[in-house]
Amino acid sequence: MAKIKYYYNTETCKYEPIKVTKKSMILNILGFMTISFVMALGIIYIYRTNFTPIKESVLRAENHELKLNWGILNEDLQTAYDHVNELQFKDDRIYRVILDTEPIPSTIRQGGTGGHERYGDLTDQNLEDPVLVLNAYEQIDDLKKKLYIQSKSYDEISTLLTEKEKIWASRPAIQPVNNKELKRIAGGFNPRRFHPILKKIHPHEGIDFTADIGTPVYATGDGTVTRAYRSTTYGNVIFINHGYGYQTRYAHLHKFNIRYGEPVKRGQVIGYVGNTGRSQGPHLHYEVLYKYRPIDPINFFQRDLDNEEYEKVIELSRRETMPLDY
Ligand SMILES: [Zn+2]
Repeated sequence: MAKIKYYYNTETCKYEPIKVTKKSMILNILGFMTISFVMALGIIYIYRTNFTPIKESVLRAENHELKLNWGILNEDLQTAYDHVNELQFKDDRIYRVILDTEPIPSTIRQGGTGGHERYGDLTDQNLEDPVLVLNAYEQIDDLKKKLYIQSKSYDEISTLLTEKEKIWASRPAIQPVNNKELKRIAGGFNPRRFHPILKKIHPHEGIDFTADIGTPVYATGDGTVTRAYRSTTYGNVIFINHGYGYQTRYAHLHKFNIRYGEPVKRGQVIGYVGNTGRSQGPHLHYEVLYKYRPIDPINFFQRDLDNEEYEKVIELSRRETMPLDY
């Protein structure tokens, strides 16, 4: 049973029951709903202005993380650039200089990447910072291109190196007689030598190494024996063709250790010091020819001598000593 509520009527000075009409009930309900709605709106407003929704805060955290990673990636990109630049520098300034070939033209190394239009898909994405992203894509493309050119360059260097190795192995580059067994250099290369017996200018086109009969004589570079015979002037003599314009001759030998047509390697014993042909004592007459013209063999000894020894050999060969062949 519903409770009856009373109120004090001042006009009648009596307590009278409160009569609730339907109209006042509806008005009360509407009033209550209005106040509740306004309060709810206020609470939502305060919450939105002071607190971040959970989903948005997750996105913000992810965004922050992405920016950090983006920064790290850019640093890595810069490090990769530095490495590639170092490779390019070594390629152009060291390897290609050693191999006596031209550096790669900067127009090829620095060739453009084609501009922003290549990244149309990205520019359509309405990114917050499109320049930052586009620059990164451009840098990566540029890096890929530089690496491709560098890789091609190494292929070329490898081919050049193989060819140069053959040239270096072939070029006369050691003494034909071991320094320990060498007694002295009796006569140096002298295109204007006055011959004491012939009484006229008669060039001495090689170097005479004085050593005991039987001392080993070495091929001074890789090549092929093109002659090995007995000459009236040279005595037992060996001619070696090294290719690339170089030939060497080894004269007055006691005997041969090779045959005509045989391939030889640098440092291989090809014969022994002797006193055959027009020779005044046991020695090796050694000649180097470039494109059939005799040149001073002193310029082709560097590989087996230290600086002091090399200076000594030069000094000996420059002295006005008498060649032992005539
Ligand atoms: Zn000589």
